[in-house]
Amino acid sequence: MSSQKDTIRSKSKNDFLVQPKGFATKAIHEAQDPDQWNSMAVVPPIFMSSTYKQHGPNQHAGFIYSRFKNPTRDVLERCLASLDNGKFGLAFSSGLGTLTAIITMLKSGDHILAERDLYSGTNVAFVQIARNLNIAVDFVDLADLDNVEAAVKPNTRLVWLETPTNPLLKVVDIVAVCKVAHKFPGVVVVVDNTFLSPYLQRPLDLGADIVVYSLSKYMNGHNDVVMGAAIMNDKALYQKLQFLQTATGIVPSPFDCFLVNRGLKTLALRMERHKTNSLAIAEFLEGHPKVDRVLHPGLPSHPQHELSKKQTYGHSGMVSFFLKGGLEEASLFLQSLRVFTLAESLGGVESLAGSPALMTFVCFTQEERDAHGIADGLVRLSVGVEDVDDLIEDLEQALAKI
Ligand SMILES: *Cc1c(COP(=O)(O)O)cnc(C)c1O
Repeated sequence: MSSQKDTIRSKSKNDFLVQPKGFATKAIHEAQDPDQWNSMAVVPPIFMSSTYKQHGPNQHAGFIYSRFKNPTRDVLERCLASLDNGKFGLAFSSGLGTLTAIITMLKSGDHILAERDLYSGTNVAFVQIARNLNIAVDFVDLADLDNVEAAVKPNTRLVWLETPTNPLLKVVDIVAVCKVAHKFPGVVVVVDNTFLSPYLQRPLDLGADIVVYSLSKYMNGHNDVVMGAAIMNDKALYQKLQFLQTATGIVPSPFDCFLVNRGLKTLALRMERHKTNSLAIAEFLEGHPKVDRVLHPGLPSHPQHELSKKQTYGHSGMVSFFLKGGLEEASLFLQSLRVFTLAESLGGVESLAGSPALMTFVCFTQEERDAHGIADGLVRLSVGVEDVDDLIEDLEQALAKI
């Protein structure tokens, strides 16, 4: 017979933070109340209307025009806010659209301090857009806290990080970075939480000011939507970003909001499966003779395994590993996969695999790739929710080909 204590212990087998109760219930019910609709629809309807009848001039029922506010988007934004224990949520037409809205809060002469290892699109936006607008950007390794203190300037407005990073899955201490950054007035700390989702990490609870997502990944979870979001607690920050959401026009379609809202209902279930599948695969790869090194925050060999256990409720489906060999071996391996699909992106139910050197980071020079540790034999997996035995068999047969 298993006691309550045993259940809790078995759920935190790897000593990650224990999930407080209520997450899955919120993901299914928050902002979804059927009583808010005349029809009492259990599933929030897709409101395609771009405009809304007014009782008299400027006497409206809360909705004026769908770029400002739309009922389907409103449901999603409220649900998203609750999952991060935040007060306010805003949805954008993509993850990078969210970043664009946040950059437009700054002005010429401001400074952004960014983690060195970032999603390549974020890096490109900082280097090729922000710098053009005379916004200075410095990239540092935020895992080294002395760097934060040394690099913050009087004009620093944003500290931007993601953890775990892409594709090397380096874990950054959110509490520690926020503590240092918040010694300087006016600095807003943004955490891109796309790789974990709020089920596994809640940056606002750890001191961040804004958490951002590409909803295109785990949050929607089915590789059929491109969308983004920002969640925060501070009302003034929310009002600024809400203004920019509508003034820049970076808004998602009601249909896509419906799909992400549906995706969230299975987020907890999916993340649990991503978690167990990816750890089993990481352990399999770590013992394989053709694999040099495996990067997965759930492995005791991961450099920030202890920090990961303190900061997160577990790990997602992301696994990176170094094959013994170079570009040729990595290509042959990827082309030999049958269950994994060779494709960009991550976080969906389908398992995907890719070569960072040949795909996401192909526009970087060899020196830049070397500096970022993007070796030729590096492979990134987004482990899906298929039967794990089928996935391991697939990896085994593809490794046998090289
Ligand atoms: C995909 C991704 C983005 C960009 O999101 P889009 O929805 O593609 O614009 C930003 N950050 C991370 C970590 C991502 O994986």
